[in-house]
Amino acid sequence: MIPFDEALAHVLERCAPLPPRPVPAQQAVGLVLAGDVVAAEAVPPFVNTAMDGYAVHAADTGAAPVTLPVVAEVAAGHPADRALRPGEAMRIFTGAPLPDGADAVVMVERTERLDDGRAVRIDVAVEPGTHLRSAGEDLQAGERVFSAGDEVTPARRGVLASLGVAEVVAHPRPRVGVISTGDELVTGPEPLRPGQIRDSNRPTLLALVAQAGCEPVDLGHVPDDEAAITAAIQRGVAACDAVLSSGGVSMGDIDLVRVVLDRIGDMRWMQVAIRPAKPLAFGLVRGEDGRSVPVFGLPGNPVSSMVSFALFARPGLRRVAGHPDERLHLPHLRAEAGEPFRRGRDGKVHFVRVVVTAEPGTATGLRAVSSGGQGSHQLAAMARADGLVVLPDGDGVDAGEVVDVVLLGEPATAPPAGA
Ligand code: AMP
Ligand code: MG
Repeated sequence: MIPFDEALAHVLERCAPLPPRPVPAQQAVGLVLAGDVVAAEAVPPFVNTAMDGYAVHAADTGAAPVTLPVVAEVAAGHPADRALRPGEAMRIFTGAPLPDGADAVVMVERTERLDDGRAVRIDVAVEPGTHLRSAGEDLQAGERVFSAGDEVTPARRGVLASLGVAEVVAHPRPRVGVISTGDELVTGPEPLRPGQIRDSNRPTLLALVAQAGCEPVDLGHVPDDEAAITAAIQRGVAACDAVLSSGGVSMGDIDLVRVVLDRIGDMRWMQVAIRPAKPLAFGLVRGEDGRSVPVFGLPGNPVSSMVSFALFARPGLRRVAGHPDERLHLPHLRAEAGEPFRRGRDGKVHFVRVVVTAEPGTATGLRAVSSGGQGSHQLAAMARADGLVVLPDGDGVDAGEVVDVVLLGEPATAPPAGA
């Protein structure tokens, strides 16, 4: 067996980011930028009002309450057609450009409309700059806005739009093929014949690939046949940037994925000191066009294939997608064990499927309890879990001890406290 860290390092060293290319901004959400984005213009582009109210010369409000004539209305998108002179006010609405000559806004709540809107009583003295948003207060022209390695999130997509950026240079979304192997597997809803089970890994892995920000490609199911597995992997290597298979990587004679990857790729078969998901075959297979495509031979047991995806394939795929080192892995947090997590000594790190709940009263703010059956075939308990408690080799932990939890989902929680 090899330690988890060594297996992970082996995988990550062989996963390289896809070459960047120009991408229209509207297609870039979820992609990783390969270069800096520099603001070509200021945001906001002009001084404008943060409030509905009246644009004034601040000096005119010094003796408040004062009454001023209202000489114009300025709305968002409709600048004033003349400057504001001393002793005047203009009605102004949020987002409208501040008229030339004005230097402050009095919020409407501190005014009284008089004479059918032809005048206003100002009840408060304001300083120059009150309720104004200055040009460039969000971004200055020439400022670096984003850097290589930043993912285009919805908010960053909005910033690109606010700057009029129509195209970015980004790593393309990796296409990831998924294959299931096994003579026992059935894909459709037909009744099972003796010895058959339904293929659950392929739909699961296709969904995990999509959730990880990659494009899933269904490469189908192949029987335990060396030629069929070879053809499927080669099809995947030709069409995809990475390939995942499940099954056929354990010790047995019919664990053909291992045999095939050994023959067609630069493969390492690893027995990783973790439970579940001990076996992992990982290799690079060269496509006809010379590309080196990472192929992950994940274990067949449904929970094992998911855990192996979370710990090895997902970080590898995120590297292919261009994410920096500190953004490859699922977040892990400290939580209080809500019950004892017992285990035996076996030289492995155990990952326990748990339900994680936000518990403001506890030291860590999170509490973890088992999500149910911990067998590597028990997918239902995995499906209930939103985390994996990391139990280092030993005899486990008592209730109340603090453990590390890899988050698979979002813990149940209430709205923000004090909000
Ligand atoms: P293997 O790694 O091929 O020896 O498979 C280990 C276990 O996982 C066996 O019980 C298989 O039947 C099961 N298994 C393999 N592939 C799948 C799959 N795609 N969906 C559900 N179970 C699977
Ligand atoms: Mg099998």
